[in-house]
Amino acid sequence: MSYAPTLIDNVFGGIRPAARALNKAASTIQSWHETGTIPQKHWNDIIIAAAEFGHILTAESFFPLSPQVPAQHGYSFDKPHCLSITDFHRVDIENLLELGGHYLDLSVQKSTREGPLRGKTLVNLFFENSTRTEKSFELAGKRLGADVISMNIGSSSVKKGETLLDTATTLNAMNPDLLVVRHGASGAPALLAQKLSCAVINAGDGMHAHPTQALLDALTLRQKLQETGQKIDKRDIGGLRIAICGDILHSRVARSNVQLLNILGADLRLIGPPTLIPIGAENWGVDIFHDMETGLEGCDVIMMLRLQLERMNGAFVPSKREYYHYHGLTREKLAYAKPGALVMHPGPMNRGVEISSDVADDPEISLITRQVEAGVAMRMAILHALSEAQNRAQIKAAS
Ligand code: ASP
Repeated sequence: MSYAPTLIDNVFGGIRPAARALNKAASTIQSWHETGTIPQKHWNDIIIAAAEFGHILTAESFFPLSPQVPAQHGYSFDKPHCLSITDFHRVDIENLLELGGHYLDLSVQKSTREGPLRGKTLVNLFFENSTRTEKSFELAGKRLGADVISMNIGSSSVKKGETLLDTATTLNAMNPDLLVVRHGASGAPALLAQKLSCAVINAGDGMHAHPTQALLDALTLRQKLQETGQKIDKRDIGGLRIAICGDILHSRVARSNVQLLNILGADLRLIGPPTLIPIGAENWGVDIFHDMETGLEGCDVIMMLRLQLERMNGAFVPSKREYYHYHGLTREKLAYAKPGALVMHPGPMNRGVEISSDVADDPEISLITRQVEAGVAMRMAILHALSEAQNRAQIKAAS
């Protein structure tokens, strides 16, 4: 399994550029190149650096010849953090989705002081605005019995100029067990994970990743498929043709969903104007289309994305009106997809820009409200799994 030379040459353009991009000695990269493998502790840095070169790597990129790890009796989730979908094997994802399904079934459960996170402290640190994600983590932590603190950046010392690392040191002194962080810079949660001794959960970093959104989207879809299996000819996500549409370029949701849905084996398409499709996306394991009419053909699921105007420093689309005309999901465009196709959107929505209200609000086809419900359940599952992995690691370290 000598994947390293291909990865170093194709992604970074050779040993020296890879050394520069990864801030490592050329001799280190040379030894990876020669032995053919790269130690696991470097994968995350490589995945982040590769994204800057327009390549989306997954954990599978580091052992492309190995089969998917089968779910085994005695498996236990052992990941210390949730930074990117690429941290997980398929077996981890299946287990997280199963636990998410369990919490979704129990979604009437109210806060409990007896939950699996009793005695643990969860800190929510959001450097970018959020409604759904922040509140769902807060609720998830409380429902599992944790003490939850949501730091308001607007009134914290970050506004007074404190750096991310100073904030990390301050947080470390508070001894949180779990830290949920959203930041405008790609890689900020990974940096905090290196500096802090708690579990770090990425709630969205720049345009890089939003792993918990991808997991909750898969949970939403799986629950819907289970309910309506008879109407959809293939029962699981692996049998679906899924289109992710719109502003792919600025979307961390799209990147994490591409990684997750590829691991689950879906037939994936990206649809968007050429200006909003990232360079190199053809290497992501997707088919690319620029018009909805051909792109939506035969699609079972359509994931719409928000036009992220706040991340655009220039004109990527002529006008919102024209964008809606060509790329907004309306009933007419929906008719190009498979009959009964399902519609998703991570929120917040720009109605009349990327989606029409009558599509977004039709409970027969739209899963958007269900995505919000699944968000709390999925985040309960992630917090629970990480906390148990942390307990096991602490017991092991003490013995
Ligand atoms: N809420 C998602 C995110 O944080 C999607 C969006 O903002 O459009 O990336």
